[in-house]
Amino acid sequence: MRTKFFHGAGLAALLILSVCLGAFLAEGKSVLRISGEEAFGQKKRVALTFDDGPHPSNTGLLLDGLRERNVKATFFLIGRNIPGNEAVVRRIYEEGHLIGNHTYDHVDLTSMGKEEACRQALETSRLVQEITGQGTEFIRAPFGAWNKELEACTGMIHVKWSVDPLDWTTENVTLITERVCETIEDGDIILLHDWYKSSVEAALQIVDTLLERGYEFVTVDQMILL
Ligand SMILES: [Zn+2]
Repeated sequence: MRTKFFHGAGLAALLILSVCLGAFLAEGKSVLRISGEEAFGQKKRVALTFDDGPHPSNTGLLLDGLRERNVKATFFLIGRNIPGNEAVVRRIYEEGHLIGNHTYDHVDLTSMGKEEACRQALETSRLVQEITGQGTEFIRAPFGAWNKELEACTGMIHVKWSVDPLDWTTENVTLITERVCETIEDGDIILLHDWYKSSVEAALQIVDTLLERGYEFVTVDQMILL
């Protein structure tokens, strides 16, 4: 009886696991929110992500602030912003942040042919590789417009977000900071834009507030792997 019970429980666990795995795969490997604390007994973790850079001055300001605080983030770069800002890209890489892809022209990848859409991602990856020696493994499609075909042809993992303070709609640093810090939870992926100075200032305030609350900052690959 006992053996049979455990056998049944094992089957049920397997079934639950396969349903969860199926749901994950059905998302097209897109990463939304993965909670760590309850499952692994770790510190609360969040990922800061910055889209639309590199910016010739604001990205550097952000890097200065992150270095002072010993915090790592993820930067989804636009390919056409890279020429002329190679030193900024090199610095992002050398200071231990993760570089992701945000297409070459900041386009809706689902509004064009597959070949052109793939070129948008691969050209950006090539530019990053020329500077750092490594292409991009992660992508955030502008407007979140992504599908399985794009995953297959780029070979990249799409990364969504779970907290969006709409930082690009306001220069009010306090408002951006509050929008993030009032809703934040373990496992969140925060979307910001290092293109704007107000967003950079808000990002550093967010870091200070969340460090005080005991959060740990990780890059999106670490969020996915653990
Ligand atoms: Zn964008």
